[in-house]
Amino acid sequence: MDYGIVMGTWTNYIKPKKYQNILLRNYIMKLAVYGKGGIGKSTTSCNISIALARRGKNVLQIGCDPKHDSTFTLTGFLIPTIIDTLQAKDYHYEDIWAEDVIYKGYGNVDCVEAGGPPAGAGCGGYVVGETVKLLKELNAFYEYDIILFDVLGDVVCGGFAAPLNYADYCIIITDNGFDALFAANRIAASVREKARTHPLRLAGLVGNRTSKRDLITKYVEACPMPILEVLPLIEDIRVSRVKGKTLFEMAESDPSLAYVCDYYLNIADQILSCPEGVVPQEVPDRELFSLLSDFYLNPEQNTSETAQEDFLMV
Ligand code: ADP
Ligand code: MG
Repeated sequence: MDYGIVMGTWTNYIKPKKYQNILLRNYIMKLAVYGKGGIGKSTTSCNISIALARRGKNVLQIGCDPKHDSTFTLTGFLIPTIIDTLQAKDYHYEDIWAEDVIYKGYGNVDCVEAGGPPAGAGCGGYVVGETVKLLKELNAFYEYDIILFDVLGDVVCGGFAAPLNYADYCIIITDNGFDALFAANRIAASVREKARTHPLRLAGLVGNRTSKRDLITKYVEACPMPILEVLPLIEDIRVSRVKGKTLFEMAESDPSLAYVCDYYLNIADQILSCPEGVVPQEVPDRELFSLLSDFYLNPEQNTSETAQEDFLMV
């Protein structure tokens, strides 16, 4: 009989292979990283994936943005998307093998790109659904310790919200500006909705490309949720995209970049500690609009808070 060893957090089992999937399902953590387009989701996702792999986890990153460049810094090229592959195989799912769609990236992170529908036609959300369906059929869902979905969050329609159906945690990437926080609030609403039927929690916000966090703080006061990390604008992160490398790979030849990796390792460690997170209660649109606008319109009132906070951060 074919036996395999299943590693668990609380015990190790030796079970016949046919039972492995059932057991492993208990140990697979699924993360959904959301945020406004261009905010740094993919950059952050790739580096968190490696950070998790550095902590000994077997990680799969699934790009669910029609931009299909989620895993670019992990693999160094734009890998064929699920949609490309489905089209090439005339939509015969049974003819697709895991190696057709799953590519090995830097640091042993496995990579998948869902892709997008033809421009101006079809539905991006449908593509996400098909990707999850195909990966389940390929049993790829049951091979990993952690699966990270990198998802566009400008519009969290039913399709783009699909990864939340599978996720244990949502992580929102935002900067310290109006638009990204507005998108964050819509994502929070989607998490609240999905959490009604599914054990989903919002792990928290990651501030990106900002040294200021005053507006983020203002938002979190209105819609309480953890702030996992705040990354400043770092030129080397921008360059990493151009080079097609993650910060961890760049740090191999330039150890002075280790401090950037530490931001991502910190996020990974928080996730691995299975934080309680929150089920958020989003701020009504008009209220949020005036809350964020007021911040810009009454800078004097807010400057003292910012100054006090800067002082505390020092
Ligand atoms: P998204 O996936 O949200 O569309 P990307 O991850 O592709 O966004 O990031 C958009 C651009 O911003 C990329 O060129 C990336 O290198 C850059 N970037 C992301 N985070 C930072 C940062 N903290 N500092 C500097 N540039 C960043
Ligand atoms: Mg992206």
